[in-house]
Amino acid sequence: MTPLIRELAHTELLCNLPDAVLEQVAKHASPRLLAAGEVLLAPEQNNEHVFVLLSGALTIHFGTADSPVIREVAPGGSVGEMSVIDGTRPSAYVVAKMPSRVLGIHRDLIQALLAQTQSVAGNLLKLLTRWMKENTHRIVSDRLQIEELNDHVHVDALTRLYNRRWLDNALERLLAQAIKAQQGLGVLLIDVDYFKQYNDTHGHPGGDQALVALSNVLKTTLRPYDFATRYGGEEFLVLLPHTTEEEAIATAQRLWDAARGVAIFSPTGTALPGITVSIGVAVSDVHSTVHSLVAAADEKLYLAKNSGRNCVKF
Ligand code: GH3
Ligand code: MG
Ligand code: MG
Repeated sequence: MTPLIRELAHTELLCNLPDAVLEQVAKHASPRLLAAGEVLLAPEQNNEHVFVLLSGALTIHFGTADSPVIREVAPGGSVGEMSVIDGTRPSAYVVAKMPSRVLGIHRDLIQALLAQTQSVAGNLLKLLTRWMKENTHRIVSDRLQIEELNDHVHVDALTRLYNRRWLDNALERLLAQAIKAQQGLGVLLIDVDYFKQYNDTHGHPGGDQALVALSNVLKTTLRPYDFATRYGGEEFLVLLPHTTEEEAIATAQRLWDAARGVAIFSPTGTALPGITVSIGVAVSDVHSTVHSLVAAADEKLYLAKNSGRNCVKF
């Protein structure tokens, strides 16, 4: 057995094959040396070979040859199977990570081997299945990462409510939908009363706990298709799709009532006094713009503050 045949017998594609088959491969294919950084396969070039890696290492990249490594191939592995099977160009760049030796097996020889022995087909299936599993795994983990990222981008860290950035996007969209459906979009602007004083008396961490408690009131009191957002420091903006003025006012009153009853505990667990909120209510009509709608709710909030706070104005 020559050294080359011994090496071939240890590759994933050619393992468990009769020596005669390996000899046939060794006769029709000669090893090729790659320098570190040399590009073996590229999507812009046709490929007619499966390359079996005999020594060194190969890296696989999508998009460009210098993009992050998607996968690394160790000796015994191979590349180019898919483009040889379906006759299309490679889907990725394959680059030598270090000086490497590969054996290129031409498509015609692969076809001949497949016709001759089932072991080659079995090995090839195993390789392709692993490739597919790895890719599926990558897609799932990429998706989870994207979802997590979106979550961070659109959710307020303290209260876990949607943040201003989300609102700036969503408000435009929800108002357009409301106008198209000729329905009202309710906006409640909620501001905690005398919150500076609350912070001064109970500390900033105590104040934070009050904001979290109020956020939980919003989450549990609203309908599943309403949206609560943290508008700024101690201000919250609630969006009520498909809502009449009466319904918006009733919701505001429910929130106002629930807010003044909410229990608040300091981070160390001591009970803190409750808070009260002032709420301004506005509901869109077909002429509303994002600006006019929020300004209308803000005007009512201002009125509530000027009327002594702790009330709902509409
Ligand atoms: P008003 O009744 O007129 O709304 O009075 P106010 O004291 O609530 O309003 P003001 O705007 O004077 O003060 C708001 C306070 O909210 C000041 C600020 O320190 C506090 N605040 C803003 N964001 C946070 C936060 O994330 N955590 C805490 N603990 N306090 C905050
Ligand atoms: Mg305020
Ligand atoms: Mg306030």
